[in-house]
Amino acid sequence: MKYVAFKNHIYMIGFGSIGAGTLPLILRHIDVKPEQITIITADDRGHDVAKEHKVKFIVEALTSDNYREVLGSRLQPGDFVVNVSVDVASTAIIELCQEKAALYIDTVIEPWAGHYTDPTLSATERSNYGMRETALALQPKYAGGHTAVLCHGANPGIVNHFVKKALLDMARDTGVKFTVPKSQEDWGKLSKQLGIKVVHIAERDTQVCNKPKEVGEFINTWSIDGFYSEGRQPAELGWGTHEKQLPDDGVKHPYGCDASIYLNRPGCTTRVRSWTPLEGPYHGFLITHNESISIADYLTLRDKGKVRYRPTCHYAYHPCDGAVLSVHELNGKNGALQANKRLLGPEDITKGMDELGVLLMGNKKGVYWYGSRLTIDQARQLAPYNTATSLQVTVAVLSGMIWAIENPKRGLVEPEQMDYERVLEIAVPYLGDVVGVWGEWSPLQDRGTLFPEDIDTSDPWQFKNIRVV
Ligand code: NAD
Repeated sequence: MKYVAFKNHIYMIGFGSIGAGTLPLILRHIDVKPEQITIITADDRGHDVAKEHKVKFIVEALTSDNYREVLGSRLQPGDFVVNVSVDVASTAIIELCQEKAALYIDTVIEPWAGHYTDPTLSATERSNYGMRETALALQPKYAGGHTAVLCHGANPGIVNHFVKKALLDMARDTGVKFTVPKSQEDWGKLSKQLGIKVVHIAERDTQVCNKPKEVGEFINTWSIDGFYSEGRQPAELGWGTHEKQLPDDGVKHPYGCDASIYLNRPGCTTRVRSWTPLEGPYHGFLITHNESISIADYLTLRDKGKVRYRPTCHYAYHPCDGAVLSVHELNGKNGALQANKRLLGPEDITKGMDELGVLLMGNKKGVYWYGSRLTIDQARQLAPYNTATSLQVTVAVLSGMIWAIENPKRGLVEPEQMDYERVLEIAVPYLGDVVGVWGEWSPLQDRGTLFPEDIDTSDPWQFKNIRVV
């Protein structure tokens, strides 16, 4: 079905796994003609897909020097910029869109090329906290301006909405008396009332391909450059009020909302214990993500400016097994990216699923996971050019675009400021089985039996217990 009509031009920046996967969804669900769409990208990848769908394809990498000429000279009032590239700064394109009266969406707050691994920048400057603060600083300037949706992929994006759904489910299942939250403070109150101390974005990707990873090769089910960049950023986590002790390598940022900390080490060398209903317990990478900060910030309760409540929040990512081997090899080379990269497409993957959801911990009844279980077979049936991983992202781009077209004057918004029910209504048909499951897991399970471990048995939900050392 067509959810909405769009009369102006759509410029898609980048046409990798997410861009190519999003295009057919846009044409399927937004009333727009192929001649209203132009792709601007850095390489020829996906040219055949663009040709098949009769959309214009321009190969020209955007840089801080040329973006005003290449993109700005084309943009007209009412157009839509969909930034699904790597290496194109979100804030620069957002400001351009505000000047030109255009709508905007991205899936991460992306900096210009080189920022993530620039040794002259401090860890806080390279962090998602820093990039989020820079983007949020634009909010007052463009309040009530043209809608610019920040970070609306799967995670960040869909999972931010899952948190609200999970909180409501938990309240229903535990018989807690509550009124449906209407404000940020209401959501924080409900989270506190339910005793939530920790929120994980708990993801287990079990997709496998028929050709195993070669030595000297990085394989993954979505952008290798994107995963490499975020994996080499400092590990970051929203920092909860129940935490007793800052980790030895934990650092607070000296400015901004103060909702999160970073660890003075890359996320791809930092592992945490987590749980998904199908996988059970697993070790995931604590890769920095925008939602670790925005969810923690959103659920923060303050009393006369003093923080009273906040859950710890972070990503616990078990990528496909081939990517785990790739990360292991990369870490052994001190972070030097392999010369060969192989992005797995739907044609390469033989089986498996992406089990992606949010795990809310601290309630007396147990832990609650709410999320999407999407197999590669389901993904292939639902949409072309998509793996299970990319479809969870591309349908979020679609639903975010539809929401922005329906709400064109909202200025800069994070997923938390959007209508989660509308977004999920559009996304859920593409997410496979969307389920909420209670579990009895805790990070203390089976711990300290054979070897001594420094664990805090008085509170399972301390980060100290969750971190793998
Ligand atoms: P990809 O590596 O497959 O493709 C990246 C695309 O960006 C390529 O088409 C490349 O040509 C283009 N590009 C690179 N430099 C450019 C430049 N200077 N100007 C214009 N285009 C340029 O990546 P992907 O998997 O499609 O991911 C795209 C983005 O989406 C990344 O930023 C990634 O981190 C993000 N992402 C977000 C989520 C989420 O859930 N929020 C999930 C997956 C990917």
